[in-house]
Amino acid sequence: MKKYILSKRVLNMTVSATLKMTEMSRELKAKGIDIIALSIGEPDFNTPLNVKNAAKAAIDDNLTHYPPVPGLPLLREAISNKLKRDNNLDYLPSQIVVSTGAKHSLANVFMSILDEGDEVVVPSPFWVSYPEMIKLAGGKMVNVDTGIAEGFKLNPQQLEDAITKNTKAFLFNSPSNPTGAVYTYDELKGLAKVLEKHPDILIIADEIYELINFEGKHHSFASFGSLKDRVILINGVSKGFAMTGWRIGYMAAPLEIAKACTKLQGQFTSGASSISQAAAAEAVNTDPGTSGELKTMLKEFRKRRDLLIELMKQIPGIKTNVPGGAFYLFPDISYYFGKTDGKTIIEDSNDICIYLLENAHVALVAGAAFGSPECIRISYATSTGNLKEAVKRISNSLAALK
Ligand code: PMP
Ligand code: GLU
Repeated sequence: MKKYILSKRVLNMTVSATLKMTEMSRELKAKGIDIIALSIGEPDFNTPLNVKNAAKAAIDDNLTHYPPVPGLPLLREAISNKLKRDNNLDYLPSQIVVSTGAKHSLANVFMSILDEGDEVVVPSPFWVSYPEMIKLAGGKMVNVDTGIAEGFKLNPQQLEDAITKNTKAFLFNSPSNPTGAVYTYDELKGLAKVLEKHPDILIIADEIYELINFEGKHHSFASFGSLKDRVILINGVSKGFAMTGWRIGYMAAPLEIAKACTKLQGQFTSGASSISQAAAAEAVNTDPGTSGELKTMLKEFRKRRDLLIELMKQIPGIKTNVPGGAFYLFPDISYYFGKTDGKTIIEDSNDICIYLLENAHVALVAGAAFGSPECIRISYATSTGNLKEAVKRISNSLAALK
């Protein structure tokens, strides 16, 4: 068989653990095994009807040609209005670049700002794709551990201690994937004070879970006037509007950075799907303060969170966090390390996830992929019936470990 020689770049990359686990559970389901997938981070709701209708209208209106590389004016204006309406932030449409998902926006940013050896400070646990994207762009991720006892939140001293002369950027994600941690205004202010002392550091604020926040108002780093000209704000429609498959994300940034990302995107993708952009404009024009549909989704996520916490608390040895947002629980399951079902010894979170997939038929993601080997990530973006059944199965399988 022919042997292909792949690039070091791709050989040194890790496969996305969230997508890998999702793929594994899809394959098992296709074989007829009754898997409950709590592995993927995507809302189980359908995209709102008005958004779907906007896409249909865009097709009928023949909005089918290459869009401008940084996005349709209609969408960039809608995003500029949204940032004013929801976040009281002033961004011109020219400072906004629309991409194929927030994941792509992040990739554009890392490729545009990082040179070989530049450091990016990232609180850990972190979302699985950050380290790989930073590495691909030649950067070095400096992770700072936060623990369950502190609600998985970084404090100002930890941030100060992590900064070196090579720090190019601070990457921040609230509400967080995988922990669901939501920083309060005062906590953000504490971090902002540290960043004020380091004027060359860029701040990448991943706000993709902005609308799934149970603690009230969302606060952005861009709202600190002293930092705004260094903030690169990342957001999208995937999570808040149940639009993961449409693949639309965006960034709002200082003009020079927006232009650099546009240049890059002009060579890589020519911009995002025009039909999806028309749909995203309709979504972004929705005021979350008055939208019944968004309120219903949020209420449902909160109900599921509370149920899942209650159920998980009943399993011996598990310590759970209380997430303020997103749709993930990130419990510590290290109590089970060293135990065995008589066949395999559970050494870490990867072993637990494989054990639970094979024995409980529940798909989860190991905390190791997020920098926290003692935890597992449970996505509760599924029905309460599924959650109850999944926890029952997890509980029974864990009880078999001695
Ligand atoms: N950031 C975080 C923290 C995420 O969890 C996700 C979900 N995939 C993304 C960015 C990217 O979202 P998308 O590409 O679907 O917009
Ligand atoms: N962000 C989601 C997750 O963490 C979607 C999958 C992905 O893009 O990694 O599960």
